[in-house]
Formats: sequence, C-alpha cells, structure tokens
Amino acid sequence: MAWETIHKHVAPRVRPNLTDYDRTWAEFTWSRARAALEGQPGGGLNIAHEAVDRHVGSGRGGKVALRCVSPDGTAGSVTYAELAGRTSRFAHVLRSLGVGRGDRVFTLLGRCPELYTAVLGTLKNTSVLCPLFSAFGPDPVEQRLRLGDGRVLVTTAALYRRKVAERRTSLAGLEHVLIVGPGAEDLPGTLSFDQLMAAAPERFTIPPTSPEDMALLHFTSGTTGAPKGAVHVHEAVVAHHATAAYALDLHPEDVYWCTADPGWVTGMSYGVIAPLVHGVTVVVDEGEYDARRWYRILAEQRVSVWYTAPTALRMLMRATPRQGPHDLPASYDLSRLRFIASVGEPLNPEAVVWGQEVLGLPVHDNWWQTETGCIMIANFAACEIRPGSMGRPLPGVEAAVLSCGGDGRARVTDGRVTVEDRPGAEGELALRPGWPSMFRAYLHDKERYEAAFADGWYLTGDLVSRDADGWFWFVGRADDVIKSAGHLIGPFEVESALMEHPAVAEAGVIGRPDPVAGNIVKAFVSLRPDVQATPALERDLLGFARRRLGPAVAPREIAFDQNLPRTRSGKVMRRLLRARELGLPTGDLSTLEGSA
Ligand code: ATP
Ligand code: MG
Repeated sequence: MAWETIHKHVAPRVRPNLTDYDRTWAEFTWSRARAALEGQPGGGLNIAHEAVDRHVGSGRGGKVALRCVSPDGTAGSVTYAELAGRTSRFAHVLRSLGVGRGDRVFTLLGRCPELYTAVLGTLKNTSVLCPLFSAFGPDPVEQRLRLGDGRVLVTTAALYRRKVAERRTSLAGLEHVLIVGPGAEDLPGTLSFDQLMAAAPERFTIPPTSPEDMALLHFTSGTTGAPKGAVHVHEAVVAHHATAAYALDLHPEDVYWCTADPGWVTGMSYGVIAPLVHGVTVVVDEGEYDARRWYRILAEQRVSVWYTAPTALRMLMRATPRQGPHDLPASYDLSRLRFIASVGEPLNPEAVVWGQEVLGLPVHDNWWQTETGCIMIANFAACEIRPGSMGRPLPGVEAAVLSCGGDGRARVTDGRVTVEDRPGAEGELALRPGWPSMFRAYLHDKERYEAAFADGWYLTGDLVSRDADGWFWFVGRADDVIKSAGHLIGPFEVESALMEHPAVAEAGVIGRPDPVAGNIVKAFVSLRPDVQATPALERDLLGFARRRLGPAVAPREIAFDQNLPRTRSGKVMRRLLRARELGLPTGDLSTLEGSA
C-alpha cells in the first residue's frame, strides 16, 4: 500500500531551525557550524566545556540541565551550575588517581545523575569515556573492558558484585573501580565515588584539548556480528550541535527526552551531549519502559521534543488501542509535545501515521550509525514526510547510492565505485567523509576500518534507494538482504507490510535457502495481545502479504514467535533468526536482550 505524503500545512508552534532545505544544504559549511561553539583559547575544543561550563559562563547556570525521574515517579533537578561543579569535581578525582589524557574511563550505571557527572567529568579531564549498558552480563562487560583498555570503572556496588568482582583479577589493566552510592567499604579493591567527590575541589580548568583528541569509545549494537569499538573525538561536538538543531529542531526553551540509554551511541550523542550543548532541559528516566509511565513522563515533564526508537513506538502502539475507554494518550496532556523523531531501525509507515493520528504529530525518522557519530539523513520539522522514507541528507552531508556487486556490497573495480543515479535504483549507501563526528578508527582493528572506505566514500553496509526528489528509502542491511528467484528483497519492506495487518505487532524476515528459488522469504511474526496464533491466521497473513507485496516478494512461510530476538538497543536480530532456522552457530550474543 502506498502511504500518502504528510504535508505540514499547519504552521509549527516554533519556527523550525531549518526552513529552506535546499538553501541551507547549499550554504552550510562545517567551519561555520564550528563557529557557533565557543571553543578554547588557541583553537582547542572540549565537549564538556561546550555542554556545561559555557552555559554557566554566560549566566545560564541556574537553568535546569537534568530533570531526573526516579523509578517511583518522583522528579529531581540538577542545574547547569550544579552539573559544572560536579563534573569539575570528578575531573579532579580522576586527576588525583593519576588518570589523564587518553586514559579509558568506563561507566556501568543506570540512568542516574552520577552517570552524567562521570561522562562529562571524564571529558573535562581529557580522558576517554566508554559507556556500558547496565544490563550487560559479566561476559560483555569483561570483553569490552579488555578490548577498550579500561583503566577506570564507575559503577554501583550491586553491579560490581554481580558483573565484575569475579573477573577482576583477569582484568590487570583495570586499576580503579569507583562505587557510586554505598558499599565500597565492603568491596576490596574499590573506592567510594561519593567520598572522593566530596573531597575534590569544585573548580577545574579544562586542559587544552585538541579537536582530534579521542573523547568517546562506543561499541556498536552487535546486530550483524560481534560489536566493534568506534573511536570518536572531541570535534564530534560540532556535528552533535548542528544536527540536533536541524534534525531534532532543538531550541533553547525545549524540554527534551531521548529514550535511548547512554550506553548506546544515540543515548550519548543525543541523550547527553547534543541537548546539553544546546542548553535545554534534558529528561532522564531512571525507570524502565512502561506505556503509562512514558505517557506520564511526556505529560508531567512537559516534554516538547522527543527522540525515540521504532521498537518503543511499536510497543506504545500495541499498548494503545485507538479508541474507547482505554485510549491512553487521550488521558494525558501532551499539548507541549511539538516534535517527535525516531532512529535505530526502519520506521514502518504505519508508525509514522499512528503518531499523526494518536499523538497529533507525525514521527520523523532519521538514519545514522555508531560509526557516523551523528544523524546523517533525516526528516525535518519544516519538510513534508514521505512515510517509510528516512528523509534527506543533513546539511554538510553528501550521501550517494553505489551500485552493488554479487555480494550485495558496493562494487569496487580497480579502486573505483559507481554512483547510481537512476531514481529508485537500489545500492549501498555511501557517505563522503569530512563531517566532524566521523569515527576515526575501529579500536584495534585497522584492517576493518580501512575496508570501510573506497574511492573517497565511507561505505555504510546498508542498502537504500533514492527517489527522484532526493528522499532516501531504507532497503535493508547488506547482510540481511534476501536474494530470491532473481529478486533482491529487503526484509523491511516485508516486515512493514506484515505490520499493517491488525493482528501483527512485530515481524522479522529472513531468507531460507531453497534449491529452486535460491532463497525463500520466511517471516517470524509476533502478534498483538489477545490474538490467537492459528492456521487460519497464518493463511490470512500469507494472503494479506501476497496482495500487498506480490508473489515474488511476499513471505512463503510464517512462524509465530512472541519473543523475537532483539539487541538490547531494540533491534531485531535477523542473523539470530537465520542461525536458529538453519541450525548454524549463533555467533556473538553479548548484546542479545534478555541474555545474562
Ligand atoms: P552492528 O554494526 O554491531 O551490527 P548496528 O549496526 O545495529 O550493529 P548501530 O550503529 O547502533 O549498530 O546501528 C546502526 C544501524 O542501524 C544502521 O547501519 C542501520 O542498519 C540501522 N538504522 C539506524 N537508523 C535507521 C533508520 N532510520 N532506518 C533504517 N535502519 C536504521
Ligand atoms: Mg553497524
């Protein structure tokens, strides 16, 4: 089914930062974007200075930086001035431990205020921050601490006991473990974060920081294989700032909520850095997902800009019948909400339209990766939305579709690639390097890094097409694309069509080898509550998909599965569906949701 373009006839409540796409794209330069930040004397640039101290220096220290909602629903505030003091103290703590420039500081914390202190204090000290998701089990924690050369770990007593203590002796490089909250005295080889903080001075002079100094180490989501460590530098802040203005339309008066955990790149770049650099109030949800809780946070915290993920939106859709006494959104005052964006996985058109119908605002999909460090392609506040499209390249970003070879990746012949300019033609998405938050390395994997570039392009590993007007459409990851009877099928198209069926909550689609067709399309489907998995429903779904997609693309087999495997950042792990189906080794499962 073709979805209608969503035109924005109603004037937005706030004038968007980007009003004329073509003109802004044509006139934009990264050096001008850099000039919007303060920088250090002598040309230095430090993320934490831009995110915190700069605001205090210009008289905005009293503004609320963090609005922390505890699991029981009570909320507390941290002002920019308080955050400046705390992060300075933490920088002193690191310095007093002999931890300096380039040393790796890991966090293994829930979304508590101390996490923000540790992140920004580490950056002030010119050390490198690597956030770990607090639900990781002992193996992924150990793997990452080892691979990332962790010298300091900031965590809690409970997390340390459960996930690190037993492995400590094998982590020779891990010199200091700082325990937030009580319990350090009972844990040999640890120090009390709170005591060290209390003893540290509140003023810290950030050392000169080169824009090229390493700032952040982020592990990828592990959707397609073992997670890779992507290295980012302080200059990335230029891109965080500019893209949050354009793609999230952040204005200083916004109350902003990014639902991604700072253990992932989205939660760090757009949950911590970008909004603080913009000087907005950031909502920090210390609790877990729950539909009512989320609506309550949106309403009570008067959230104006909301950045979330397709899987979260689909969970809300599932929990939110459209009418009747259970009409959840209608019972909350969402009148402050003015802009919604989503990232991480393809956003099915139905979810875009659901936003429009149920929340009164369409969802603006955008695309990027851990490697790119910032949003690359987006739907903008002032522009029409073509549901199902991830939008157009950000100002400062040159994107192209490259012709693919038989392996589903860009074809490189004698070092040259071919740019595909036929509208609608599918190929690998490539980006012209040069934006500030581009990753500078895969940690300890030079070969893999170099293999990601060809002929002056960075190759993303994602297949897309571009329509005649320049909108990009996601087809699938190169590893997930299915070749069936001469057709190249992107799982997203099939999943999206299945999710339009009223019984379907989510779907994951793979290719299953077949002697005749090469592969046949198989769909794993999870159903909405109260829907029974029956042979009749299976037939109905097969027919429904066939009518929408045609026989060449529609799934030939459907399996019901209420627990589709996902990464902890919420992405369907198609490689695991495929491995299970074919009885193959399951590979790295460190980021599998629900794993210990
Ligand atoms: P790994 O690289 O370890 O397999 P990952 O690619 O999922 O994991 P991330 O860097 O967190 O790790 O995710 C980036 C990827 O997520 C993109 O390359 C793309 O495949 C997918 N993605 C992100 N945003 C979108 C979007 N708006 N539409 C479609 N896919 C998206
Ligand atoms: Mg990836």
